[in-house]
Amino acid sequence: MTELQTKLFQAACDVQKRAHAPYSGALIGAAVLMSDGKIYSGCNVENASYGGTVCAERVAIFKAVSEGSTKQIKEILVVSDAEKPWPPCGFCRQVIAEFANEQTVIHTANLQGKMKSFKFPEIFPEAFTPKHLD
Ligand code: ZN
Repeated sequence: MTELQTKLFQAACDVQKRAHAPYSGALIGAAVLMSDGKIYSGCNVENASYGGTVCAERVAIFKAVSEGSTKQIKEILVVSDAEKPWPPCGFCRQVIAEFANEQTVIHTANLQGKMKSFKFPEIFPEAFTPKHLD
C-alpha cells in the first residue's frame, strides 16, 4: 500500500467499527479522497425498514458534499469484514458516478489489508452521469 492508501485504509477501518448493522451483521467503512485533498469517512447505517439503509460509501460522499468539499472524487477505499473485499453496490456506483471522472480509483479491501483496485470506469462502464443531462 502507498502512504495515501494506508491513510485511506486507516480512516475506513476506524469508521467501520461504528457501523450500525444489526440486520446484516456486515460492518463496512469507507474513506473518500476529494480533489481538494480532504478525506471523509463513513460507515453503513442500516434501518429496520431495510430500504432506509445507506451504505458506507454514500455516507462518506454525502458528508464530503454537505461539509462543502469539492465535488470531485479522486479515490475511494471501502473496507469490509468479509474475507473477499466487497466492491461498491449498484446504488453506490451511481452516486460515485455523480462525482467521479475517468481517473477516479476505487480500492476494495478487507480488514487484513488485502486490496484490489479499479479505475471507476472499469467497474461502472457506460455510467449515466450529469453529462447526459447537458
Ligand atoms: Zn452501496
